[in-house]
Amino acid sequence: MRFFALLTVLALATTLPAQTPAASSGSMPDLERFSLNQVDKSLDPCKDFFQYACSKWVKANPIPPDQGGWGTFNSLALWNIAAVHKTLEEAAQPSPNRTPVQQKVGDYYAACMNEDAVNKAGIAPLQPELDRIARLKKKSELPEILASIHQIIRPANLNFIDAAYQGVVFGIYSQPGFDNAHTTLAALDQSGMALPGREFYLNDDAKSKEIRDKYLKHVARLLELSGIPQPQAAMDAQAVLAMETELAKAAMDIVARRDPRKQNNKMSLPQIEALTPSFKWSRYFAATHAPASPQYLVTAPSFFRGVESLVRSHSIEQWRAYLRWSVLHSLASSLSQPFVDENFDFFGRTLGGTQQLQPRWRRCSIYADIDLGEAVGQAYVAKYFPPENKARMLQMVTAIKIALEQDIDAATWMSDKTKQSARAKLAAQVDKIGYPDHWRDYSSVEIKRDDFMGNVQRSSAFEFQRRIAKFGQPEDRSEWGMTPPTVNAYEDPQHNTINFPAGILQPPFFDAAASDAVNYGAIGAVIGHEIIHGYDDQGRKFDAEGNLKDWWTAADATNYDQRDQCITDEYTQDVPEAGVKQNGKLSAGEDTADNGGVHIALAGLANTLKSQGKALDQPAENGASELENFFLSYANVWCGSLRPETARTAVMTQGHSLDRYRVNNVVSNMPEFAHAFGCHAGQPMVRANACRVW
Ligand SMILES: [Zn+2]
Repeated sequence: MRFFALLTVLALATTLPAQTPAASSGSMPDLERFSLNQVDKSLDPCKDFFQYACSKWVKANPIPPDQGGWGTFNSLALWNIAAVHKTLEEAAQPSPNRTPVQQKVGDYYAACMNEDAVNKAGIAPLQPELDRIARLKKKSELPEILASIHQIIRPANLNFIDAAYQGVVFGIYSQPGFDNAHTTLAALDQSGMALPGREFYLNDDAKSKEIRDKYLKHVARLLELSGIPQPQAAMDAQAVLAMETELAKAAMDIVARRDPRKQNNKMSLPQIEALTPSFKWSRYFAATHAPASPQYLVTAPSFFRGVESLVRSHSIEQWRAYLRWSVLHSLASSLSQPFVDENFDFFGRTLGGTQQLQPRWRRCSIYADIDLGEAVGQAYVAKYFPPENKARMLQMVTAIKIALEQDIDAATWMSDKTKQSARAKLAAQVDKIGYPDHWRDYSSVEIKRDDFMGNVQRSSAFEFQRRIAKFGQPEDRSEWGMTPPTVNAYEDPQHNTINFPAGILQPPFFDAAASDAVNYGAIGAVIGHEIIHGYDDQGRKFDAEGNLKDWWTAADATNYDQRDQCITDEYTQDVPEAGVKQNGKLSAGEDTADNGGVHIALAGLANTLKSQGKALDQPAENGASELENFFLSYANVWCGSLRPETARTAVMTQGHSLDRYRVNNVVSNMPEFAHAFGCHAGQPMVRANACRVW
């Protein structure tokens, strides 16, 4: 697993995203801008700041029926996908004037939109792969069949809830070496479970059991749709659940996975062959045409021992069932309507609480973004990302980095030696804003106007091959892990970069017409969040070069851990709207980034205002003080709500606190907030034991 530290998990994927009343084909929804009118002045900001800043927004923006949740992020994502849709519609018009890129993305979109053809084809486009699986006679042939399957399913995407679960048996990709981040290695990761986390297989509570019962039925129904007779499909579903449960048992748990040192298991080819004697890696690599990797990073050796025992203990019939299911599951949302509906019923409705499928034009726009992202992104950026936005972003990034530098200098708990390394890391951190300098070349991907499933498989194979071709090569740090229209941001500790796609550089996150206070509270806190990821409990283990190398003195590390423990304890909290308790150890990195990010964004704003002869306590044009505007704008980007099912899945599987806590926990740790709103000790938004790392 790459240690990308994301701002949020906004699934712009198949079943979880977007529909609003304004979303009929063609029209662009309005962008939302920050305004004091959103504040409910009848409430007390010192009691529940999230309610004060967001309750009006949440009331005015109910969760659409095809969504698991709705917030300002989704609202901007919807705007972006409508913008992408517009460029795709234009590109889809057959015209001799189309550029090669327009032709490619336009034909992809047209093929996806041809619902009649997709429905008429039914399972036929997948039949060759299903037949290959049906012909599997011996378990010794697993390497070749997996090599074939891995190339036709969409490779793991950063925007998915946990990329580790997107794969068949295991995940394979390229990543920088932990000890030398300048060389790309092959990484072999745990995967092969269709539910969003191992806890879904292993937990014993009533809700988990209920989900597994429904999952069994879903697996059986999907197999039936593909032509397996009913009694057999039910038996196969039992085998699938048993096999995935074994993988879940062998998998590394989600908290342990956060420690890069636990994933740094370098092995040679003979060593990985010895790890799984029943699975011949040399045959797998020969079949995928993968170049030799100097070493193989095995993120979880125990998982692969589990794979070995799975190969030994399950019959060839059970393996055929598992592989057939895995292929159907991976591509169901792009198949004909019965498959799409069945997939949505379980993953959208049962796991996400979503009531209806979003319109086809939007699903096709999202698929185009996933499958041909940098081709789609070129057209999007040309139209929607003016260069002056980039210039203002750069100013803010610089101001916020200076604020962290001052914070490091002033820290009483770090020695000069550690401070020096921290500053060196900050100086080396590269910021990437908007879109890549070099666009990916998709000219070798064949896109046919009448073959949607073929297009999906060919673009997936292209992406698979692109990734494995990098084994042993120098690492390319200019590459992006997100597409330009994405409403998200990330820090990459192994490249030591912070990355802000053009998609998030729109209101209410970034607004060229808004004041500095409003921008620093919104995108400034996002910038701060990503910078701080380089210094959270995970990021601090990587040095300026991106190598996994300890640059902390023992005493400073102890001081860090103490401060971090305060955050972990604070966020180990009940989350009533999700019906589960949050694990503060899982969210420690994100919570540290949230708290530190707001802190340095505010310091960056203070410096900026000072240089303009202004002050934080001064009233701004809208009557509120600059400081109040800063905090209200911060809360505003996290306004939103989740369905209970989506909230439960989110708290269980990923490290981001829910929106309400991203606002209230952060502000209640800050004396500047109490000052801005006149809150005093004893009130809920003034924490007696306030935490502060950065
Ligand atoms: Zn983050």
